[in-house]
Amino acid sequence: MTETPLTQMPEMHSSNGCESAAAPARCEARLREELAGCSFELHALGFAPGTSGNVSVRLDGSRVLATPTGCSKRVVGPDDLVVVDMGGQQLAGTRHVTSEIDMHLAIYKARPDVEAVVHAHPVFATAFASSGHALDQPFCAEVVMTLGTIPLAPYATTGTCEVGRTLAPYLEHHDAVLLANHGVVTYGDSLMEALMKMETVEHFAQICLVVRQLGGGAMLEGKHLTDLLQARAAYLRKAGRQVHWANGSNGTSAGPHLTARI
Ligand SMILES: [Zn+2]
Repeated sequence: MTETPLTQMPEMHSSNGCESAAAPARCEARLREELAGCSFELHALGFAPGTSGNVSVRLDGSRVLATPTGCSKRVVGPDDLVVVDMGGQQLAGTRHVTSEIDMHLAIYKARPDVEAVVHAHPVFATAFASSGHALDQPFCAEVVMTLGTIPLAPYATTGTCEVGRTLAPYLEHHDAVLLANHGVVTYGDSLMEALMKMETVEHFAQICLVVRQLGGGAMLEGKHLTDLLQARAAYLRKAGRQVHWANGSNGTSAGPHLTARI
């Protein structure tokens, strides 16, 4: 089987749409290579031990390409991948579809802008998820800029559509969610972006743990936080992307808030 590290991929594009409508087959071939590379990298980072974790990417409006079940992410090759429709029915591939595909599909259905989903069990972030703690305190400017906050979705039995239901309230305004007693899911407009968000979540979880050990830390607040969120909005708008501000968690405050997403 082919093993293609993400770092060796010839090009990671920001959108998974074919650059040329005349080359859909080549587009799928490229996405297969990229997905295999992302899978390898996820394992290399230590985020997907054993056969855990799964990665997917949209092929088009009605099909998703995904890693198969029961396979180490280290050895998944382009030909091992499976294709499913938006109902989870397997359309292609000799291996079997992961039981966690419903979680991926719930995200694609809720977020038309999402092109790729990464699910994994990184140690520190999963420890927070297993301790009942969201990563929702603004300790780091970088994380506020890239992710806002990372909420904790209630526990749901893995491999059931219950996972998608518990995720639903968080999908609109977040690009990364902790899954209670389970792991993490991140998503974005490319495999690279979804993977980088997973890295950011795990790095932030490590920071939060040390901050707690040091006695609590100092959260960004007031003007500093508002300025940061406005800088994020300006950066995203400059990149040609829209920013949707959400109301505060109590539903009363409008304007820049940590739940803002691109
Ligand atoms: Zn899982």
